[in-house]
Amino acid sequence: ASLPDDTQIQAAVDKAYQDYRSLSDGANADYIPALAEVDPALFGIALITTDGKLYSAGDLNTQVSIQSISKVFTMAKVVEESGRLSIYDNMGVDATGQVFNSINAIEQHQGAEMNPLVNPGAIAATSMVKGKDAADIWHSILSYYSDFAGRQLTVLDDVYQSEAATNQRNQALAMLMYAYGHINGDPLQATDIYTRQCSVGVTAKDLAMMAATLANAGKNPVTGQPLVQSENVPEILAVMATAGLYDDSGKWLYKTGLPAKSGVGGGLIAVSPGKFGIAVISPPLDAAGNSVRAQKAITDISNALGGNPYEVS
Ligand code: GLN
Repeated sequence: ASLPDDTQIQAAVDKAYQDYRSLSDGANADYIPALAEVDPALFGIALITTDGKLYSAGDLNTQVSIQSISKVFTMAKVVEESGRLSIYDNMGVDATGQVFNSINAIEQHQGAEMNPLVNPGAIAATSMVKGKDAADIWHSILSYYSDFAGRQLTVLDDVYQSEAATNQRNQALAMLMYAYGHINGDPLQATDIYTRQCSVGVTAKDLAMMAATLANAGKNPVTGQPLVQSENVPEILAVMATAGLYDDSGKWLYKTGLPAKSGVGGGLIAVSPGKFGIAVISPPLDAAGNSVRAQKAITDISNALGGNPYEVS
């Protein structure tokens, strides 16, 4: 089935905005001090169809840090540069059933049988990005993310400084992954580049464009730029479905059927293949680390539009 018409899409977006605008459950992440400072009332919804039409409600201009949503696009970069089995062979594509910065998840299988969307696997993925030095690798990552968003993205320096000063746990995860042979090069360099990639500033519209590029078989629906070969997209979506919302990925998939990815900055993206990408920004998180309002808004909007790819009508 195809999507409902323009007015119905906009009505679904508006309804979710109104329904959840005053919901104040959850709390900003505070283990990265700068994230605790972000306005918890910030709420923006953007949906972009595979033909490039934008439907939105709320704040489309305020940037938050992309955080873990970046992991999807670094995975895509590695798969594009090094082949579709590169991630699968290095850290695996299985859910860990543990928090995103779990040391136990590494220890259980010596850093294998995890996935690129939790911190140890994500830092390992960042270490696999090609480039002649750290600056070159970083530039390549930032420009790839920018192509997905369709505009030049930049780092939110306060977030980067705050996380770089407090990311000892991620450094430890990287060291362990290195010890087990999953990190290419210097583990602390990989952690620093990973910290920068997590600090990239994005709006709800940027995130929706990034998601819509995946929904559109890897081609940005507005600029037309091909960013992921279409045959590499299903594997990326599969890992998002498996592990995109950490330990609550199963519950999310049960309710929506959508490959998705959350970040502790309050962003959440979801992909309805062939139909749309959607993103919501709302900083307060639940206990699993996923935005409360974003989960509710995306679930309602997608279900109203027939976005669930498992639903055949
Ligand atoms: N930069 C954050 C971290 O490494 C990302 C975590 C997240 O968004 N879940 O802890």
